[in-house]
Amino acid sequence: MPSQPTEQAVTGVGLDPADWHELRAQAHRMLDDVVDHIASLADRPLWQAPPPRVRAAFDSPLPLTPTPLAQVHAEVRENILPYGSGNGHPGFMGWVQGGGTVVGMLGDMIAAGLNSNLGGRDHAPLDVERQVGRWMRDIFGFPETADGLFFTGTSQATLVAVVAARTRALGTQARRVGLPTDRVLTAYASSEAHACISRALDIAGIGSDQLRSIPADRNHRIDLTALRAAIDADRAAGHRPFLLVGTAGTVNTGSVDDLAGLATIAAEQDLHYHVDGALGAFGVLAPELKPLYAGIERADSIAFDFHKWIQVPYDAGFLLVADAAWLRDAFASDAAYLSRAGAGLAGGDWWPCDLGPDLSRGFRALKTWLTFKTYGLEQLSGVVSTTSALARSLAERVDTEAALTRVAPVTLNVVCFSYGAADAAAPNTGGSVNARIVERLHLEGHVAPSLTSVDGRPAIRAAIVNHRTRTVDIERLIDDVLRIGAEETADSVSAEM
Ligand SMILES: *Cc1c(COP(=O)(O)O)cnc(C)c1O
Repeated sequence: MPSQPTEQAVTGVGLDPADWHELRAQAHRMLDDVVDHIASLADRPLWQAPPPRVRAAFDSPLPLTPTPLAQVHAEVRENILPYGSGNGHPGFMGWVQGGGTVVGMLGDMIAAGLNSNLGGRDHAPLDVERQVGRWMRDIFGFPETADGLFFTGTSQATLVAVVAARTRALGTQARRVGLPTDRVLTAYASSEAHACISRALDIAGIGSDQLRSIPADRNHRIDLTALRAAIDADRAAGHRPFLLVGTAGTVNTGSVDDLAGLATIAAEQDLHYHVDGALGAFGVLAPELKPLYAGIERADSIAFDFHKWIQVPYDAGFLLVADAAWLRDAFASDAAYLSRAGAGLAGGDWWPCDLGPDLSRGFRALKTWLTFKTYGLEQLSGVVSTTSALARSLAERVDTEAALTRVAPVTLNVVCFSYGAADAAAPNTGGSVNARIVERLHLEGHVAPSLTSVDGRPAIRAAIVNHRTRTVDIERLIDDVLRIGAEETADSVSAEM
């Protein structure tokens, strides 16, 4: 028997609160809570494992009936807020992650409240995203024909760039017929390039084997002579070289490829020239680093992350291309339900669903726009300069400590070093003293570098990305590494006796 319509269905109250006054008071408590959380980051452990009681709370069954928001909020406060991933903490130096800002958070709050879908149509939120795109065109010296849009991060932006490059090389019929079977598409990047590039070739169906890994020189920059040789060899084998990827800030050591040299080779060889700027693109904002980026304005596309050095809360990746037509050719479709009107809501001439794989899209642009407007280039470039200066000061400290060895040059904001002489243990194994130091630092919760391997040896890697990191955190890192390193090596000596 069909049940009677409920009161809720009859009165049509939907999901809005019955009492806006009460909702507002609760919302203010939630805002206060998260602002308190951010304001007191430095006073709490960087990271702590959720205890079994907390983990068990996430085993509770699917909720069937309503729970008061205040009660759910209490759960957030107790079980989620204290157990985050720590990247906002001033001592966080692991991997490459931004610290976030309150301003960015407020942008996300308003974006969620507005709940706009930025797949297309005619509304101001799209103007915001376009404006961010024009600002990026200005920052990177791209031409008038350039365009760009938000993605989750550089991984996704890179995939989109690879698909656009494929369509440039093969023509739009590749969208229907797929890849040629008689001629392999080949791509080039240095051995230091991020894994998202080979993954993009894999996902795009081109195959990760078609990414030629070009050796890097002693400064971890792509070797241009080896690159030319690899392209020549592929042409001689009858392949179709189509894509060259340079890196502005490699993930491991922060090195910047010779971007102008790569631009010249790409032009000579008729390759799509893409730059991975996830970590380092915004180094162009710092006058002392800017010369490293000469040639970036000649790229065909750049992928980068606002959620790293620019501190926009996750996630906010971006793809900038020199010619919007490349994205349209690769992604536009003429589905009937997406028909365009000459005027009104269904109008507008900039529909991001024509420029990438997403149809429904959120308003990542707002938190980014708010970040640029509120801080201005002046303060954002200040963060870039300050964090790279901190990295250089860390490198100097490492160089003066007899117990520490620096294992890579410092170009931007990444410092790689090891305890003792270059660690001889196999990379990333628990047998390495450096691995044990990093693990114990994470458990202690004051500073958190990450573990990597440089030239095949385990190394401690400190990526100074967070705008909250200060000299005291750098000193703490050095002191704690020296203390734990001494303890660990004393242990192994006594264990061997
Ligand atoms: C972080 C990073 C990526 C991947 O970016 P996501 O935003 O995590 O997808 C790619 N390349 C480099 C150099 C990076 O540092």
